[in-house]
Amino acid sequence: MAYATINPYNNEAVKEYAYTTEAELQAALATGHALYKQNKKQPVAERAAILHNVAAKLREHSAELARTCTIDMGKLLRESEGEVELCAIIADWFADHGEEILTPEKIDTIATGEAEIRHSATGIVMMVEPWNFPYYQIMRVFAPNFIVGNPMILKHAANTPASAQMFADVVAEAGAPEGSLTNLFLSYDKVTEAIEDPRVQGVALTGSERGGTAVAGAAGKNLKKNTMELGGMDPFIVLDDANMDDVIDIAWRARLYNAGQVCTSSKRFIVMDNVYDQFVDGLKEKFSKVVPGDPLDPKTSLAPMNREKAKNKLQKQVDDAIAAGAKVVYGNEPIDLPGQFFMPTILTDIDKDNPAYSEEMFGPVAAVYKVHSEEEAIELANDNPYGLGGIVFAGDADHGAEVAAQIETGMVFVNNFMVTLPELPFGGVKLSGYGREMSHIGEMAFVNEQLIVKTDKPNLDNVAGGLVATDPA
Ligand code: NAP
Repeated sequence: MAYATINPYNNEAVKEYAYTTEAELQAALATGHALYKQNKKQPVAERAAILHNVAAKLREHSAELARTCTIDMGKLLRESEGEVELCAIIADWFADHGEEILTPEKIDTIATGEAEIRHSATGIVMMVEPWNFPYYQIMRVFAPNFIVGNPMILKHAANTPASAQMFADVVAEAGAPEGSLTNLFLSYDKVTEAIEDPRVQGVALTGSERGGTAVAGAAGKNLKKNTMELGGMDPFIVLDDANMDDVIDIAWRARLYNAGQVCTSSKRFIVMDNVYDQFVDGLKEKFSKVVPGDPLDPKTSLAPMNREKAKNKLQKQVDDAIAAGAKVVYGNEPIDLPGQFFMPTILTDIDKDNPAYSEEMFGPVAAVYKVHSEEEAIELANDNPYGLGGIVFAGDADHGAEVAAQIETGMVFVNNFMVTLPELPFGGVKLSGYGREMSHIGEMAFVNEQLIVKTDKPNLDNVAGGLVATDPA
């Protein structure tokens, strides 16, 4: 698909962007590689200062960035503003902590000399990102790798080209050297070509299994380290003693935030029988209060979905779920507006053989399940191909944490909305991918963990196992 902004609120074709040419890709690779060599000699503190400046520039341009993002993919303006601020927080955090994370680690060893692991840049990182958080998804890879010294080439989603370019422009304006983040409008074939290039040493993708399989396949074929941040069907477990006011207050937000288009949206509500009716009534009431409309208007509380294709896919998934026996207890009616709106919908009675049981629905549709014991709740939560995040509501937070520890996902929050912050590792298991972004773990994703052992003079006495040529007898 060609790169273009089509405003999902009114379907206006705003702007199209030409694909990157071969010469432009080669220039980006050459510039990135030259910068990598230069970065290896540069003190980290100098990059930290630039990263603080990136945060400042994001805040300075917040209004235009937010507006651009809302027009690209439709999210509520206040959510776009929040996303820009989160990006600034992430940049500041890595600027403040990134160097310390890279501190060489001493190793106790019987080898002669002093051993340490240094963490250094490896080369260009090719990042492939989705449209649902046009800035935050870039920043999750950009901030840690910028500190490390890895230059980056960005291939963003076809429907958020304006956001991608604006982010790259802000990074340049903040004083990052050319090549630090090059936004290219790459075809799929050119993404593969970039991954094949020896100057590219890391590949980071956030997206679906479809994109993940293709990009991880190219990375694997070329033996390039990669991280995959893929989809999720996060469980939201409500135990029998949960505070139901808190549960309802968080549940609707966890499903409808960003028009339900979040990898860590709660997509499966697993509710104990004694509070099930109260839960469904409460969720219905909250869903019925949202106001669809122009996402630039502060009165709007339900944004359109990002594009027509996504809305049609979701409608088909809901139709298929109903055909397979699911009941609609709320929603699934058209919204009389020209944009890509989808009415918040609640489905129940989803059996194991219903496609909705194991397919991610990337929009405002909640699947609600009734369970009769904690064990059943945990089993249902884990009976899923994905393993990204999850929420547990429990009367006792410690007990909630025990339940959380039995859930096969990368992140679980007890008695609260899932949040993402720079110090918290982000990522999943199973079909939700591998590797972590952000935090000290994310910063290490594409470093050379280089062992250096130094001594003043060689000593052959304590070479363990004698792995050295010996003197002739
Ligand atoms: P997608 O189709 O996989 O797209 C993601 C990115 O991959 C886009 O830039 C896309 O480019 C690119 N892409 C797709 N196929 C490619 C190929 N064969 N070669 C090179 N690039 C390719 O994902 P989506 O459906 O738009 O995004 C939503 C998915 O992302 C959901 O499943 C969601 O759960 C997941 N997600 C995960 C996380 C996480 O952190 N785990 C966060 C957010 C979203 P085009 O736009 O040009 O197709």
